[in-house]
Amino acid sequence: MFSRARRLLIAEGERALKDFEYTAPGTLREAVKLLAEKGDSARAMAGGTDLIVQMRINRHQPERVVDIKNVPELNELTFTPRTGLRIGAAVPCHRLYANADIAQRYPGIIDSAAIIGGIQIQGRASFGGNICNSSPSADCIPVLIAYGATCEIAGPNGKRSVPVEEFCTGPGTNVLAPGELLVSVRVPLNRKNTGAHYLRFIPRNEMDIAVVGVGAYVELGGRGKVFKTARIGLAAVAPTPLFASQAGEQLSGQPVSDETIEQAAEVAKSIARPISDMRGTAEFRTHLVGVLVKRALHGAVKRAKGEFVANAVEVA
Ligand SMILES: Cc1cc2nc3c(=O)[nH]c(=O)nc-3n(C[C@H](O)[C@H](O)[C@H](O)COP(=O)(O)OP(=O)(O)OC[C@H]3O[C@@H](n4cnc5c(N)ncnc54)[C@H](O)[C@@H]3O)c2cc1C
Repeated sequence: MFSRARRLLIAEGERALKDFEYTAPGTLREAVKLLAEKGDSARAMAGGTDLIVQMRINRHQPERVVDIKNVPELNELTFTPRTGLRIGAAVPCHRLYANADIAQRYPGIIDSAAIIGGIQIQGRASFGGNICNSSPSADCIPVLIAYGATCEIAGPNGKRSVPVEEFCTGPGTNVLAPGELLVSVRVPLNRKNTGAHYLRFIPRNEMDIAVVGVGAYVELGGRGKVFKTARIGLAAVAPTPLFASQAGEQLSGQPVSDETIEQAAEVAKSIARPISDMRGTAEFRTHLVGVLVKRALHGAVKRAKGEFVANAVEVA
């Protein structure tokens, strides 16, 4: 039995969901046309795990929903040793962590795909939807920033590419113009001696959004003793996910040691601009940035050396 408050909430939600036109095009060209025709009044839908919830609470009231799951380009998941990994924008998380190339070459992606919601959510939710929803706490964005990934966009005026770190412009907003669609995310080929790791903090072992999330990528030289390059992405510490570029640059050319990792963590803390809310104070979040950057870097270093680092799918 539902409580009275719960019954009222359900009734409120039912009233809020306005009629809309549902379309499910089979080609990219048609999807772009259907979106462009309605401009701001149309929305793309992949898994719908954000969109449907937001329509029910009235955050979005699209006249037209364009279901993009039948568009072949958006369902492609391919790896080639020449070009790297291409993740179609509608590919759900469960396909990512079941993919052997990703498990072998991009385990940082699995760290993130395997913790988005629970198993039912992962059956629907896509990285494309996670990026386009553009939440500051989006779990897939920091690790994609760390890997140096790029968003491939198609629209009425053609195609363009945007680095993941430049895609979000504010909480829930991004660079997509009306009629534009995220087609895929390209993750560059990772060279030898590279590794990445994503970690987030949530206060309980149930579904929740990140209080802080950190993705780290490293390339090692000098037989694993020196950082050649490093990239660090942060979630939930600013209005958009952040590329903490100075923290990565700080490591370049430095020995792999607790001391240099600690210094990079301090730089990342100085870049974070968190707010205080019900999930944690700004001070707590800043502290967490330091802790998680260190752990994520240590995990990335281990993977770069070929050592095993557990995640929600691959448990030690
Ligand atoms: C119970 C629950 C738990 C959750 N847990 C987490 C979590 O742990 N971590 C986390 O980060 N998120 C979480 N989420 C949020 C959500 O599941 C993710 O953001 C998910 O990845 C969204 O993907 P989707 O395919 O469902 O997107 P959709 O809901 O289909 O779309 C999301 C937004 O992106 C737009 N969009 C989608 N695809 C495209 C495209 N190709 N081009 C242009 N615009 C597009 C839509 O119009 C919409 O505005 C949770 C949600 C629920 C309901």
